Amino acid sequence: MVDLVDIANDKNEELIHSTLINRPHFDLPSAHECESCGNEIPEQRRALGNVKLCIDCQIAIESDSKHNFRTVGY
Ligand SMILES: [Zn+2]
Repeated sequence: MVDLVDIANDKNEELIHSTLINRPHFDLPSAHECESCGNEIPEQRRALGNVKLCIDCQIAIESDSKHNFRTVGY
């Protein structure tokens, strides 16, 4: 019975692991300046790879798309 629980846990970890692996690859070069506002993108953020926007613009776009998504149903 203990083995069944262990197997279930293993499956979950496998799923989480493959989900992480299947995420988009951030191996493209990052921009030094934000494409939207032109502010410098911090080195720490650029290290993620494929970063084109500063944090402020990224948050703005993400909150915009969430907002739009939420209002689509109305
Ligand atoms: Zn920006």
